[in-house]
Amino acid sequence: MIRHLAIVGSGPAGYYTAEAAQKKWGDDVRVDVFDTLPVPYGLIRTGVAPDHQSIKGVSRRYETTALSDNVRFVGNVTIGQDVTVEELQQLYDAIVFATGAPHDKPLGLPGEDLANVFGSAAFVGWYNGHPQFAELAPDLSGGHAVVIGMGNVALDVARILSKTEAEFAGSDIVNHALDALRTSHIRTVTIVGRRGPHQIMMTPKELGELMHLERASPRVDPADLPAQEEDAILEPGLRKSVGHLRSFAAIPDNERAGKAIGLDFDMFASPVRLVGTDKVEGVEVERTRVEAGRAVGSGETYVIPADLVVACIGYRSSPIPGVPFDERAGKFANDEGRIVPGLYAVGWARRGPTGTIGTNRPDGFAVIDKIAEDLATGALGNTAKQGRAGFDALAAARKLDVVTFRDWKKIEEAENQAARDGAPREKFVDIESMIRARG
Ligand code: NAP
Repeated sequence: MIRHLAIVGSGPAGYYTAEAAQKKWGDDVRVDVFDTLPVPYGLIRTGVAPDHQSIKGVSRRYETTALSDNVRFVGNVTIGQDVTVEELQQLYDAIVFATGAPHDKPLGLPGEDLANVFGSAAFVGWYNGHPQFAELAPDLSGGHAVVIGMGNVALDVARILSKTEAEFAGSDIVNHALDALRTSHIRTVTIVGRRGPHQIMMTPKELGELMHLERASPRVDPADLPAQEEDAILEPGLRKSVGHLRSFAAIPDNERAGKAIGLDFDMFASPVRLVGTDKVEGVEVERTRVEAGRAVGSGETYVIPADLVVACIGYRSSPIPGVPFDERAGKFANDEGRIVPGLYAVGWARRGPTGTIGTNRPDGFAVIDKIAEDLATGALGNTAKQGRAGFDALAAARKLDVVTFRDWKKIEEAENQAARDGAPREKFVDIESMIRARG
């Protein structure tokens, strides 16, 4: 019997799951990969930094999966809105939510609503041309930006704010962001961390890039660094990252003086409030020390001037009506990917926003094993489902404007044609233009 699988979300977690389903069942499976956007690849398109094109290259692997006969892309359809989860359950044997974690975790601090304070989902979405954030229009006319968090997203944001136009050559940063950055007045980017060098979440390759920026120089206060011998207990990746911080602390002032932008690491500083009247003017932080890995406040506070604040402190998934959700953890309630028999979660929707793109591959294979287990025990029932034929009938009755993979290839072609010199593409940043481009 042919098995019908619906995957909700066409990012890395979605396509690795589709690949795993193919490997497991070959011709005996049909997979529909749904996406709200008319374009595939989720975070590869709208999350991965535009100047990290080599990482984006992984989408070629997803394309191989997407082009196979038993997998199809169903774009421009929002599950939970255009079609309910209950309706999908009638049509497919199993539904896998690979919806990622598209919302910013709130800071939960006074002043968070001041103008020019953004979460990283919004800010990254802006420079990556996500239709939801294309109109964000951050004001880059002030001199000082504060980036909250010491993870790889904070590094992406700090680097994007620091690069020269020439350094964006070969990237697919969207024109509206490049235009704004070209006239940016930001000359200091303070990266704020509530804990210390041994607790950073930044990986060595990404952190090392800060050493090679044309007009920006990283600065670490040597007093924040623990004694070098204490690095010995760290796992090798983190030890290497801390090594980079040590190199930043050792950059001589005269070398730094030649750079227009300072990238200042402010560690042991926990944000307590955003200061300003209408627009943000500063971030008040409390000095901390780290005890047993936790930040402990000292009561001493100070204000870091800020004309722009980007909080890069993690993400949450979106609940979908009819699917159990763990509000506290901000992801689907699941046991190793199984929400209930028939409903599964994978990637960030399963485990929260951690790990690299590659982490989603074993995740996808593991969830397919869970589905195979549930099929074998009869937990998913033995009635033949209609799968894609049933979905097509529903979509036609509801007049849904489904975007296919073939349509996406036309959109992609138009984006490639519109690219600046040396750039791979110029993305459409609104849904209407994407739909129009498919012809
Ligand atoms: P992350 O790695 O979890 O880092 C989040 C940072 O925010 C941590 O430093 C955390 O500090 C801090 N933070 C959290 N809540 C805070 C609060 N309320 N106040 C102040 N600081 C707070 O998250 P991410 O940077 O968003 O990255 C998400 C995932 O994507 C990670 O796995 C990352 O490696 C991956 N990613 C990879 C790349 C790449 O490989 N090039 C690029 C981007 C993202 P504490 O540790 O003290 O909680």
